[in-house]
Amino acid sequence: VFSNVARAPEDPILGVTVAYNNDPNPVKINLGVGAYRTEEGKPLVLDVVRKAEQLLVNDPSRVKEYIPIVGIADFNKLSAKLILGADSPAIKENRVATIQCLSGTGSLRVGAEFLKKHYHQGVIYIPKPTWGNHPKVFNLAGLSVEYFRYYDPATRGLDFKGLLEDLGAAPSGAIVLLHACAHNPTGVDPTSEQWEQIRQLMRSKSLLPFFDSAYQGFASGSLDTDAQSVRTFVADGGECLIAQSYAKNMGLYGERVGALSIVCKSADVASKVESQVKLVVRPMYSSPPIHGASIVATILKSSDMYNNWTIELKEMADRIKSMRQQLFEAIQARGTPGDWTHIIKQIGMFTFTGLNKEQVEFMTKEFHIYMTSDGRISMAGLSSKTVPHLADAMHAAVTR
Ligand code: PMP
Repeated sequence: VFSNVARAPEDPILGVTVAYNNDPNPVKINLGVGAYRTEEGKPLVLDVVRKAEQLLVNDPSRVKEYIPIVGIADFNKLSAKLILGADSPAIKENRVATIQCLSGTGSLRVGAEFLKKHYHQGVIYIPKPTWGNHPKVFNLAGLSVEYFRYYDPATRGLDFKGLLEDLGAAPSGAIVLLHACAHNPTGVDPTSEQWEQIRQLMRSKSLLPFFDSAYQGFASGSLDTDAQSVRTFVADGGECLIAQSYAKNMGLYGERVGALSIVCKSADVASKVESQVKLVVRPMYSSPPIHGASIVATILKSSDMYNNWTIELKEMADRIKSMRQQLFEAIQARGTPGDWTHIIKQIGMFTFTGLNKEQVEFMTKEFHIYMTSDGRISMAGLSSKTVPHLADAMHAAVTR
């Protein structure tokens, strides 16, 4: 009965790793997937995560019962506090409904399903370009997806004028997906003044912000700094949604732990919203898993562990920044034509190199360097040892 099923294409991002794994050449580098690697090119489990796991394993009171549909209560409270700030009025006024979800992707999907069912506008504007899964998540939830201008290839920076024009022309009430920090794939974020202008425009048109926060702490090294965009919007008392992921900032990729927060106008509305989100989750996966959220709650609850986490997080962010500097210098040293300052100006895990599809294909074929075809490279996948090979490849691709 399934013989007519056509073969689906490989996911464009995860497919890069499949191709990398199939390449026997030892000089190969995988800059496709956004997962942190050490200087030695190894995946990293944070010390503080190992400690939290030890505590959990040694606690005989822990059982494997189902948890509530909305997840672990402590985890939800602490996650809202992490993104909104300890003194957030929205939290104090109990106006935030937070639901533990399956990492960032699951949080986006649950939020999208809720909006499709309960929000009057069925259109969501997403930046052009954006993370490749965004349009798929929102389309599958039944929202219609439109793009707003975001990146200007000429300046390799923000197309702020285009952004304001497109959001200004969006229908009243439209949902707008915003990357809270470290925009993926471009590494280009609005300045705080620009965020303020975006906020004013969006509120004046009743556009509904849906923040995707997949990199809190990864962009600047500071959890508070990277949450500023979200906090600016919450401070004005208006509504928004936030999808949080602990994949990158706690290195909990495969644990699939994240949270959806819906900031409402009143405690009464928030509790009704929560009751409806439960109806979204129950038929999808019933309730979320325990382990990852228990690790997060253990760390966020203890001031010692929290501090240790921020130190390790800063180390990861600093290593990424140092890779930017090293790659920039290596390219300068080779005299590669063009302005490459965007490598050090962009922030977060990725550099949007500006290399085109043909150049990317050339680098893969001749240098065994793997990246997405839009020229995005994960700086977290680089090390001092691999920077020269990448710089050689980029130089060859640009000058051939
Ligand atoms: N949003 C953005 C912008 C991302 O880059 C990612 C991860 N690549 C995610 C969401 C979701 O990741 P996860 O589901 O692993 O938390």
